[in-house]
Amino acid sequence: MAEGTGEKYCMATQKGGPTSIPLFDLKRQHGALKEELSAAFERVLASGMYILGEEVAAFEREAAAYIGCRHAVGVASGSEALLIAMMALGIGPGDEVICPTYTFFATAGSVRRLGARPVWAEIDPVTFNVSPEDIARRISSRTRAIIPVHLFGQCADMEAIMKIAASGGIPVIEDAAQAIGTPCCGRMAGAVGSIGCISFFPTKNLGALGDAGMIVTDDHELAEKCRMLRTHGMEPKYFHKIVGLNGRIDALQCAFLRVKLKRLDGWIAARRRNAALYRRLFDEMEIRGVEPPVEVRPGHTYNQFVVRVPGEGRRDALRKFLAGRGIGTEIYYPVPLHMQECFADLGGREGDFPESERAARETLALPIFPELTEDEIRYVAEAIAGFAAA
Ligand SMILES: *Cc1c(COP(=O)(O)O)cnc(C)c1O
Repeated sequence: MAEGTGEKYCMATQKGGPTSIPLFDLKRQHGALKEELSAAFERVLASGMYILGEEVAAFEREAAAYIGCRHAVGVASGSEALLIAMMALGIGPGDEVICPTYTFFATAGSVRRLGARPVWAEIDPVTFNVSPEDIARRISSRTRAIIPVHLFGQCADMEAIMKIAASGGIPVIEDAAQAIGTPCCGRMAGAVGSIGCISFFPTKNLGALGDAGMIVTDDHELAEKCRMLRTHGMEPKYFHKIVGLNGRIDALQCAFLRVKLKRLDGWIAARRRNAALYRRLFDEMEIRGVEPPVEVRPGHTYNQFVVRVPGEGRRDALRKFLAGRGIGTEIYYPVPLHMQECFADLGGREGDFPESERAARETLALPIFPELTEDEIRYVAEAIAGFAAA
């Protein structure tokens, strides 16, 4: 182990604080775009139009073209996109919605907020994505939607899921919050199901400078319903056809996102390069017991680069070891949803979903953001080699 290299590196980069290589560093990305982002801010400031309006309409057109969908509806966040999509499909009390138990909370939180019941499904242990076979087993006469999640930027097995859904006439809501730009079944994540939900949370592959989200669909009626729902079901002004909510997107966020959308493919390419470099270094350093993610379906966009660390307590030990060397990591997600306190009434128990629970114990996300340098990735890989050899 070239311990000295790491030492030197740490000192060279340790300007901002205790962490020399953070899990993500948005300041690098935005620093490089400072002039364009400032111009976007000035434009919105001068326009006097701060919610919806021309800036939002322009971003919706550009995002719809990028994703290859007829309609895009900007909303306040990815969570709001899921909630509004389900409201547009008429999901409510008594309904069941199948979703993975190993995902971010918002996937199922939105189901519960509408009084419907999330029905948990197990994941595939290789991709961490929901298992189509398990979805098929959990369909009942009350199933009103299926929500596959393209976790970490890798497309779920949409071919199988769409077949299962079609045979039951069940709508598919894609949780593409982590997967904008991921190719999927000849289209793009979000454009394959009945309706797709995207998040522009700052750490997603296309991040706003605050909260923002989007619904995409080819279905004109669904799109119009989502548009109405995001402004309290109002059409025209002060005439309310349905009960909606305030789920609007800000003009300022759309102005920033228009600047950033043009760079998205370049950033995705950089994430993929970073992932390939990690893999090559793991091979060269003969790292055992820390397994890089497997790209089963080509086109993973690596919103997260999640390694698996089997063995009692080893994942947590690696996390601590890396923190001691100034390397930021995160656990996505430490508690599967069937074991969350707020879902206890649904009767989930430890042991119900062994693969999801094992993933929650064994996975760790490493820095993968586009602006990482080769030296930084090498430093992380060397640190992991040091841990694996110990
Ligand atoms: C980020 C995320 C969301 C929610 O998006 P927000 O914009 O943070 O509300 C939903 N689902 C998944 C899988 C996510 O990663």
